[in-house]
Amino acid sequence: MKSDNKNIRHLSLPALQEYFGSIGEKPFRAKQVYEWLWLRHADSFEAMTNLSKELRQKLTEHFSLPAVKVDTVQQSNDGTIKSRFRLHDNHLVEGVLIPTDSRQTACVSSQVGCSLSCKFCATGYMERKRNLDYDEIYDEVALLNKQALESSGKKLSNIVFMGMGEPLLNYKNVLQAIERITSPDGLGMSPKRITVSTAGVAKMIRQLGDDKVRFNLALSLHAANDKKRSEIMPINDSNNLKELIDALNYFYKATENEISFEYILFKDFNDSKEDADELIKIYRQVPADLVNIIEYNPIDMARFQKPDAKKAEEFMEYLAKNRVNARLRRSRGKDIDAACGQLANKG
Ligand code: SF4
Repeated sequence: MKSDNKNIRHLSLPALQEYFGSIGEKPFRAKQVYEWLWLRHADSFEAMTNLSKELRQKLTEHFSLPAVKVDTVQQSNDGTIKSRFRLHDNHLVEGVLIPTDSRQTACVSSQVGCSLSCKFCATGYMERKRNLDYDEIYDEVALLNKQALESSGKKLSNIVFMGMGEPLLNYKNVLQAIERITSPDGLGMSPKRITVSTAGVAKMIRQLGDDKVRFNLALSLHAANDKKRSEIMPINDSNNLKELIDALNYFYKATENEISFEYILFKDFNDSKEDADELIKIYRQVPADLVNIIEYNPIDMARFQKPDAKKAEEFMEYLAKNRVNARLRRSRGKDIDAACGQLANKG
């Protein structure tokens, strides 16, 4: 359990230096500890073996280091590894490692539960308990990176914020986590390899533009008219498609970063030719690079099913004929609790 002591990872390097100065330690000690925390991903003060025993004891008395722990791991036949992580207050979140020939992609969570209640999503049926701190998001990524190295000998190549929660409703922590993930004294990843996926919070999409972020953005579209979208994503009532299209254009103008759409195909709901036409219309209004068409992973609590393979194929062909850069993403990890929120829900 987390003690009442201050979380040491919430101190910047200058703040750590000040602390070490105040206890009469040399300034380089602060750098050493900072490296243990972020670069070497130590999960306890005990692990910081180049510090004296006395100093480690002092740090333990003054600070906490509430590292995220792996709680359960499920490995799919297709190589997908789904992990349930336990936070210091015993909340559970999920992270997934999705390996392909060319990529090791980590899918991470940004909140415990979610307040947006999308009708097709297992997380949407859980209450939002709290935001993840930036060090917790960082831990998820570092742990998935460790899994990638152990299972394939390769580091993570990509990170997508498509796990539990709406990243733009935990804006500050997500941006701070990405700063640490991309920093040379953190995981040193390129921001171009990171995609933040939003259900559509127009105001915060504009904020990303104002903050000149360097990572990519994906909009979970899933339905291309307001009526259908509001039916499955209540957030569309307050952030309709017109507002989202304007916000995406604002984001692109400010950053020129990649934008993509996510579109889950639901049987007899959004898989017709008319639906494809509406999707094409939206695609033409945004400088989007790609539409990811996703095969739905059905969950017990929702009425949706995945469409027949033939219907999905026809949908893809129609998009291609209309010069939409679309890719069909087969669902991975069908033999494990692969849908977002399924494994954490079990906890
Ligand atoms: S799809 Fe994303 S935004 Fe919607 S309920 Fe699930 S986690 Fe929340």
